[in-house]
Amino acid sequence: MSDQKHAVANLSNLYRIFTVPESPDSTLGKIDQEISQNLNGFLRDRIVATEQDLAIIEQDFSSPRIPEQPTFVSDYTEFLLDTLVAQSVHTAAPGFVGHMTSALPSFMLPLSRIMTALNQNLVKIETSKAFTPMERQVLGMLHALVYGNDETYYQRWMHDRDSALGAFCSGGTLANITALWVARNKLFPAREGFSGVAREGLHRAFKHYGCEGVAVLISQRGHYSFGKAADLLGIGRDAIIAIPTDRDNRIDIDQLLATCERLAQQRIKILSLVGIAGTTETGNVDPLERLADIAQEQGCHFHVDAAWGGPTLFSRSHKSLLKGIERADSVTIDAHKQLYVPMGAGMVLFKNPCSLTSIEHHAEYILRKGSKDLGSHTLEGSRPGTAMLVHSALNIIGRKGYELLIDKGIDIAHTFADMIESEADFELVTRPELNLLTYRYVPAPIQAALKKASETQRTEINQQLNRLTKQIQKSQRAAGRSFVSRTRLSPPQYGDDTLTVFRVVLANPLTTPGILQEMLAEQKRIASEDEQAVATLNSLDELISGN
Ligand SMILES: *Cc1c(COP(=O)(O)O)cnc(C)c1O
Repeated sequence: MSDQKHAVANLSNLYRIFTVPESPDSTLGKIDQEISQNLNGFLRDRIVATEQDLAIIEQDFSSPRIPEQPTFVSDYTEFLLDTLVAQSVHTAAPGFVGHMTSALPSFMLPLSRIMTALNQNLVKIETSKAFTPMERQVLGMLHALVYGNDETYYQRWMHDRDSALGAFCSGGTLANITALWVARNKLFPAREGFSGVAREGLHRAFKHYGCEGVAVLISQRGHYSFGKAADLLGIGRDAIIAIPTDRDNRIDIDQLLATCERLAQQRIKILSLVGIAGTTETGNVDPLERLADIAQEQGCHFHVDAAWGGPTLFSRSHKSLLKGIERADSVTIDAHKQLYVPMGAGMVLFKNPCSLTSIEHHAEYILRKGSKDLGSHTLEGSRPGTAMLVHSALNIIGRKGYELLIDKGIDIAHTFADMIESEADFELVTRPELNLLTYRYVPAPIQAALKKASETQRTEINQQLNRLTKQIQKSQRAAGRSFVSRTRLSPPQYGDDTLTVFRVVLANPLTTPGILQEMLAEQKRIASEDEQAVATLNSLDELISGN
């Protein structure tokens, strides 16, 4: 930016940038148009990304110096369009199926201007007014989706000044942290001789309640946000006990029960049992009904992480997968995933509207007791009015619209799974339960060799295949026509081997079977043309012919 001519820093220019321009033909109006055109072009582009080395991009962002002189908005906009927009990822492209970040409905762009323009702060009603009841309604709508209470229940609780049906936050991580925070404070409440863990801390809570520690039980497919939560809450990351999963990536109930028994003997309290409704890597759903029973027997908090899978409840054909979620004490749902809202929107809902009082905090100049301010039970302080965009999406798309989106995603995931299975050189590793699946490229002769290989041979072959998967994935990403991500899994049916797999998330309604077919074709092409991939395939051939 350094070689541009500079604007002048004086008070009249300063007043000007804070003044709303009167005519749409103003400079700002023109800049606005230019930005819209540029963004529309970017969003319509079908490519996923143009390969550019990050080190080169970093050169555009290398100076630590805050410019001494102001910059013209027009010049700065050029900079943004050329350097930032042009080098962003096309998450909206239908071939971008590697992550949980996908396309947005186009109405989000104009509507989000309302949020930015009004700049409300949800921490308290004095800075948010109508946004607060709107956020409470959004929490109520999602609460009703999960728990399905009747109209009188929501009339009683939705706008209640002493409680809240949930907390709106910036995403699933904050939602999960909030849920465990509540669970921790409920586990060690104040009573005669103890003023509660929130005041006295964990050390004294353990002493007072006579326990040796606490544990959070979750399957090994659990999201890493629980590790952060454990660290922050002072219970330590080792308190997260990763229970092995079965062949379908669901928590192994026998191992869970054995762990509960062991913890009881060690006088370790269960802070929360966590069920996952849509694991981040494979999209599988834990047996929530069974987990609810176990939590009840253990008398512990039951949290469901439905950050991804929560909106499956919109679908009449698939919601039964989440049966039991309505018995959870708390539920996380990300709005910036399958509610198709821009980044920075998540929620945690509580079955009991008084649960959040366990983390309630007050301050004199703000958040007075008995106010309806939402800031008195959120981890964050100042917060934007993002709930407005969830409200918009819920109204504009509607239950039936979401049902179509969910059904379509699951449907195309099954179509893609069939496609993979019908290809001799691909292997489906995890079958879709929701709209995620994993697979890998394994030429037919190697699949045959794997079937009869000894354990050590099998491990050797899998190691080479892992390398191949990585090479294909990187090469495909670099080409920029489509994007799948990769992850590492240890499915029990593969012995002790850890597999590197392609991971696909099908949430963009514009992704067609044709695009997916082309993606497989490209992967086959890479396997036969990419130098590194060819070398790995050669060593695999040697490995199996040496048998
Ligand atoms: C995405 C995700 C999270 C974390 O949510 P963020 O919005 O990224 O903070 C937690 N749990 C699951 C199952 C997720 O898929």
